[in-house]
Amino acid sequence: MPWLAEPLAQLRDGARGHALILHGPGQVSLLSLAFRLAQAWLCEQPPGPCDQCPSCHLSLAGSHADLMVLMPETHQQALRWGGGAEGGDAEVADGESKSKRKPSREIRVEAVRQAIAWAHGSSSRGRGKMLVLYPADAMNVVAANALLKTLEEPAAGMRILLCVEDPERLLPTIRSRCQRAAIAMPKHPEALAWLSAKGVNDPETLLRAAGGEPQAALALQEAGLPSAAWHALPGRVAAGDASALTGLSLPLAVRLLQQLCHDAMAVLADAPPQYFPLGSVPKPANWVRLLAWQAALLKAARHDEHPWNAPLLLEALVAQAHATFARKATGAGKGAGRSSLDTLPT
Ligand SMILES: [Zn+2]
Repeated sequence: MPWLAEPLAQLRDGARGHALILHGPGQVSLLSLAFRLAQAWLCEQPPGPCDQCPSCHLSLAGSHADLMVLMPETHQQALRWGGGAEGGDAEVADGESKSKRKPSREIRVEAVRQAIAWAHGSSSRGRGKMLVLYPADAMNVVAANALLKTLEEPAAGMRILLCVEDPERLLPTIRSRCQRAAIAMPKHPEALAWLSAKGVNDPETLLRAAGGEPQAALALQEAGLPSAAWHALPGRVAAGDASALTGLSLPLAVRLLQQLCHDAMAVLADAPPQYFPLGSVPKPANWVRLLAWQAALLKAARHDEHPWNAPLLLEALVAQAHATFARKATGAGKGAGRSSLDTLPT
């Protein structure tokens, strides 16, 4: 990611103190930058990361004993983040079977405590220890307070990188003990060139779909939503075709429906859509149904940690979309809309 090269070099050489908040839009970019920065500080052929030395090899393989990433299980699943030494939060033994309980949306206090104990052990390759928290605002107050003690009295050679979209979401006591670096999104032409080089057809459409974040745009294609599928998605959802979302994770599917709902509001207000191509979003029937759909999507987004409900929930949300977009002129009458609404869980 060429747009991260400059902040990487600046922070590698210029970071003061032991704790750094990386913030800005595009969380995946923040995680990439934090990971490369940690790799650079651990690199044995400075200025790194050289990608060649034994330390870099271990970092890239996700098995460096001096690099730990704390991430909620929901984010690990969404990013398909592997296990290994860096999967700190997943390693926490809490006596529960991971497959039976729902994945955690938080960086838990047990994981933070475990990381602090790890940080006080000796560095395996003598270049200190790197702890990355992503997203740092996934720590609850108890976990944040556990980290606070370490920020006040860090282990020797320890560096802490906190990735967060909005630093105001962190405790003031945490913020005041960290240096901050705002990370900007890449410029539009640079992002398009990078996506093209990655083999993305029609990168303009997917970049727009991802709100300008190139890695998120690439992730859409890799999740089975290339540009053509993105163009077709509003029409398929409006027609009640839930298979348009097959294979997507529940949080991603709900987010896409929320983007479609957002654009449907724009279209109904005679404004251009933000995420979907012009002309691809049908005009909804009326505001009442649209607002009801928006409320149902918001509720689903808040409870998206229940994976066993995923297919049923998505079917209900798409059925409600069908009712929202159903217009008398296209043959789908008021009655069809009502019956779809009636089948929704309350
Ligand atoms: Zn290296």
